[in-house]
Amino acid sequence: MRILVVEDEPTLQTQLVAAIAAAGHTVETASDGQQARYLGEVEDFDAVVLDLGLPQIDGLSVLRHWRTQGRNMPVLILTARGSWHEKVTGMDAGADDYLAKPFHMEELLARLRALLRRLSPHASALWQCGPITLDTRQVCAWVNDQPLTLTSHEFKLLELFMQQPGQTLTRTQLAEHIYPYDSERDSNTIEVFIARLRKKLPPDSIETVRGRGYRLCCTHSA
Ligand code: CA
Repeated sequence: MRILVVEDEPTLQTQLVAAIAAAGHTVETASDGQQARYLGEVEDFDAVVLDLGLPQIDGLSVLRHWRTQGRNMPVLILTARGSWHEKVTGMDAGADDYLAKPFHMEELLARLRALLRRLSPHASALWQCGPITLDTRQVCAWVNDQPLTLTSHEFKLLELFMQQPGQTLTRTQLAEHIYPYDSERDSNTIEVFIARLRKKLPPDSIETVRGRGYRLCCTHSA
């Protein structure tokens, strides 16, 4: 999934990015409130980790701005230790969860998984689509109990398809999901990744929707 990490403290930002990327996600970062406000408004994220104490514009104002603009992605706020009023104000401003600093990275990842589960049609970390099973927690997948060997790009594509089975996804949407914001997004390379992923899945699992994109079809068996 695509996660925005907003944290001005460089060491913590690096740790957050490393942990969230290791959990199989694409991570974007912002180091101040202005950049965060912009990214959260114009880009699509599956979840945001938002520090409240930020330069330029504070995290609460950023969050309120997103919500008034109808940006409804799940947001986990990071609050200062012992500051209970920040938690209350943060939840009132539209945060979905909070974590007080300092925190254990494992707890942050668990809370992030819980937030992402809420927006997926699947109730657990194990997602099923016909013969395909994907484990969002262990970052692995199977077809009929046969483990798949997937690159991280292939896993991210399969995850996006399984998040919304039957929905047509455009090449641009797929490219946005796997490439970081500031890298060059070449939607032509998506065709190459799709071709490779198709070879690993049961025949006709990924349908081409002419002129629009691709969709995952869950009815085929291997
Ligand atoms: Ca801070």
